[in-house]
Amino acid sequence: MLTPNLLEISPSLYRLRIEGGLAHLLNSYIWIDADGVTLIDTGWPDSAQLISDSLSTLDRGHSDVRRVILTHFHDDHSGSAAEIANWGDVEVVAGRDEAAYVTGAEQGPVAVLTAKEKSIAGEVTQPPHGPACRVDHLVDDGDVLDFAGGTRVITTPGHTPGSIALYLPEPSVVLTGDSVAEFGGDVILGVINTDRAEASRSLIRLAETGADVAGFGHGEPCLSEASARIRAAIDPFSDV
Ligand SMILES: [Zn+2]
Repeated sequence: MLTPNLLEISPSLYRLRIEGGLAHLLNSYIWIDADGVTLIDTGWPDSAQLISDSLSTLDRGHSDVRRVILTHFHDDHSGSAAEIANWGDVEVVAGRDEAAYVTGAEQGPVAVLTAKEKSIAGEVTQPPHGPACRVDHLVDDGDVLDFAGGTRVITTPGHTPGSIALYLPEPSVVLTGDSVAEFGGDVILGVINTDRAEASRSLIRLAETGADVAGFGHGEPCLSEASARIRAAIDPFSDV
């Protein structure tokens, strides 16, 4: 068994580092309470075993997984969702404007890269789909999910058209997906977006949550003053 790289970023909430692949410090998140397990993002298409091992480390199993929430369709986030969705009685949750890309009903959009983004990612010509996964529950901005004191869905278009983020009020945590990231010690606007201007507006909406802690799709978490740090995020991959 692999030794999972787990970090408890607030009570009941664990960050799982997804090792391997080309992505910068890729993360999924695991919420555990008496009702079971909620997974937020699922890593690459080969990450299900690592997530299974992580649950074992936390004294949970496949049958404890109640819900998988996908922040967006990219293969480093939705990659293992289809496999995990078959572990048991699992509800797959995605944004209303993202679900067609997750299910494969529609081809997702290709990001518009800045010159600096091209220097790290090369030319992107295909949308990075993972294996198609069913979606059971479409969510809209302001919808509330029954965990962590009533987790609020925040639609965050920009990285992809239907990206979502989550605000967990009980631990005061925002999980940003790829709308925000940590890179080299800085909080930054997420990279490789379909619409950078819209992504910048979405970032401000995440700052407005007032969250103390932030967990990013990529990078190290922000364990204090998260909202202020997101509001002050820099954009090192801008061409301007
Ligand atoms: Zn992404």
